[in-house]
Amino acid sequence: MAHDHHQFFQDQLQALETENQLRSIPDIDYGADKYLVLDGRSLLNLGSNNYLGLSRDPILLQAATEALQTYGTTSGASRLVTGTNRLAQELEEDLARFKDQEAAVVLGSGFSANLALLTTFADRHTVVYSDRLNHASIIDGITLSRAKHVRFRHRDMDHLAFLMDRHREAPRHICVTDSVFSMDGDCADLEALVGLCHDANALLAVDEAHAAGVFGQGRGLAHALGLEREVDLHMGTWSKAFASLGGYIAGSRTAVRLLQTRARSFIYSTALPPAVLGTNKAALESVSGTPEAGTALLAKAAELRASLEDLGFHTGNSRSQIIPIMLDTSHKAQAAQAFLKEKGVFVPAIRPPTVPRGQSRLRLSLRADLEHADWTLLQTAFKALADHLGPNVGVEAV
Ligand code: PMP
Repeated sequence: MAHDHHQFFQDQLQALETENQLRSIPDIDYGADKYLVLDGRSLLNLGSNNYLGLSRDPILLQAATEALQTYGTTSGASRLVTGTNRLAQELEEDLARFKDQEAAVVLGSGFSANLALLTTFADRHTVVYSDRLNHASIIDGITLSRAKHVRFRHRDMDHLAFLMDRHREAPRHICVTDSVFSMDGDCADLEALVGLCHDANALLAVDEAHAAGVFGQGRGLAHALGLEREVDLHMGTWSKAFASLGGYIAGSRTAVRLLQTRARSFIYSTALPPAVLGTNKAALESVSGTPEAGTALLAKAAELRASLEDLGFHTGNSRSQIIPIMLDTSHKAQAAQAFLKEKGVFVPAIRPPTVPRGQSRLRLSLRADLEHADWTLLQTAFKALADHLGPNVGVEAV
């Protein structure tokens, strides 16, 4: 490599390091399991999105193995060429039924599903209203679509109404939101969004990545609120509660047909491999067969939030299994992560640029497979952290 390129990379890394923003891949083993191994130590894993603890479920393992043995390791091509097999079609049919929608399409990841959704339904004549805390894949999808990107303040429906009014002359309108926000664990006000979208004639697309498998008997927040018919496009991922990989979009037959024809991240990308499709099918069956699992997890999360608040921590507006523990500075969040690690618990520190400056935090992802001993470990570790931090344990979320 030419020296000046090398120097450029070095300078970039140096600048990030100076700002304490250099990211490193942690040396973790078995990241989705209830216990992970970090620096040779076994730690209770409260950083995974494997919310229902399905990653070692014997039925999922068997489904993956059978699919692998039957169809081999790869799907070999894009779905539109020769990459479609029976499993992909069955998965989409099962999902559409589960989500009470006419049709569904499965993609390689949640990230590419959001790119697909926005580039298919938005163009440069469209205004896309997007919550400021929406996931990065939504932001990138909007940028790729060339639509006018209009951000509204997080969950601020008055602000959204104001912006919709300001852009009312635009030819097309789409509103997009996470249903459960990934860093705050709070929920979109879907009821208000449905009303505003109705009045502004805006398409409503909801990213249920963190709600699927948990809210609404596993179907998502839209279902939990009885709004599944009012939301036009239901996006989600197989990589979190479903303990696998891939993304999906469910909606009307025409919407899905258009996606299959237009979405470049669907058309020009190899279909998910059979083992993954088999896993997804089994995970969907498991979630639909145990609708109480998500509800129980949410109840546990409410209990945990209350006990953290009793210790003096601030958990923001979390209403889900994702619990932020607000710690202000990046340094404080990292020190808290290190402290908990010494107590046998892994909870990742989240800091800028992922969250705004002054809002660094621990992000605890509660999981359904905790047993009594795990709870004791968790409670003991946080009690010790609260004692260690003293009276100013937390800060209010701004
Ligand atoms: N949407 C949201 C809200 C997410 O949190 C994520 C993953 N972090 C994605 C989409 C992307 O999903 P995937 O990991 O399956 O690509």
